[in-house]
Amino acid sequence: MKCATITPNLKRMDEYKLHEMWKSPNGTIRSILDGTVFRAPITIPSIHPVVKNWEKPITIARHAYGDVYKSVELRADEPGVAKLVFDGVSGKHEEVVIHEFKGEGVLQGMHNLDKSIRSFAHSCFKYAIDTKQDLWFSTKDTISKKYDAQFRIIFEEVYEQNYKAEFEKLGLEYFYTLIDDAVARVIRSKGGYIWACKNYDGDVMSDMVSTAFGSLAMMTSVLVSPDGNYEYEAAHGTVTRHYYKYLEGEETSTNPMATIFAWSGALRKRGEKDGLKDLMNFGDQLEAACFDTLNSGIVTKDLVNLMEGVEAKAVNSAEFIKTIRTNLEKRLG
Ligand code: NAP
Ligand code: MG
Repeated sequence: MKCATITPNLKRMDEYKLHEMWKSPNGTIRSILDGTVFRAPITIPSIHPVVKNWEKPITIARHAYGDVYKSVELRADEPGVAKLVFDGVSGKHEEVVIHEFKGEGVLQGMHNLDKSIRSFAHSCFKYAIDTKQDLWFSTKDTISKKYDAQFRIIFEEVYEQNYKAEFEKLGLEYFYTLIDDAVARVIRSKGGYIWACKNYDGDVMSDMVSTAFGSLAMMTSVLVSPDGNYEYEAAHGTVTRHYYKYLEGEETSTNPMATIFAWSGALRKRGEKDGLKDLMNFGDQLEAACFDTLNSGIVTKDLVNLMEGVEAKAVNSAEFIKTIRTNLEKRLG
């Protein structure tokens, strides 16, 4: 709901028009790279997850193509027959009755592509190997015996043909289960794995996981393409409410963690690819300086009420970043 929070002042109206004019830059990059978005909470000892047995972060891997997000819908406003029809280029014709409506109702048609599901699977297995974590995958294939089953089958094929040996070598597990079983197991688990989800499940579950771990600003987000390219970003948006406060000359206390971790992650990955140990170390030390800051109780406003066991003080945006800088300089000597 892009316009839900828009107030009728000029700046917001201009922003609204820009929303209509320009496509999401992140969305455009993601679809070019054809990847999967991995989102993991950034945890600190003084912010306890709502789920008390979660000891390690849970990474959500969300398929970013198709299903309900590319669906078409119809309102059946009188009795009639609804059908699913496929006309192949070869002349093949298939149809199934969806429902014989005796009264009014609603209809929805959705799709996905083998190619996109396969890319999703490759990204998930590669990321699991890269981060040395088990991979869980869940759908509802007991009910959706063709659609969701295709996801399960493709994941199995990709695993067997490409990644099984490497998983076994690293002692990692690939685990498939039903989405409802997965939800129950996730809540009982200690965390520390990747949970691959279909588009809608990933949308809902990533919000649940990030909120249960603390805050939207305490989350990393990286897109991995099937050919092994990476794009790091902040999981949250542009925080426009804070930006307008800043333009009015008001003090802000915006949490830069997700943005800093996008940089540290990207720099470390660049260092890894180019064999630059100093660059990798800089990424590590930058993250460590962020943790030094938070662990000393210097935090932004969004975190101050979540901290336990540490006397926390909320500082403004600039002061928070300056403290991280001081801590980074101490670490780098
Ligand atoms: P948003 O920028 O994520 O901000 C929503 C609210 O969440 C903020 O007003 C703030 O709450 C809180 N918040 C988010 N990040 C924070 C941070 N770093 N520190 C402190 N508080 C933070 O979402 P939005 O306002 O709905 O969207 C703004 C723009 O970003 C839109 O153009 C949207 O399309 C885009 N967006 C992009 C992505 C993406 O590409 N990954 C994701 C979401 C949104 P309070 O105001 O209560 O402090
Ligand atoms: Mg969502």
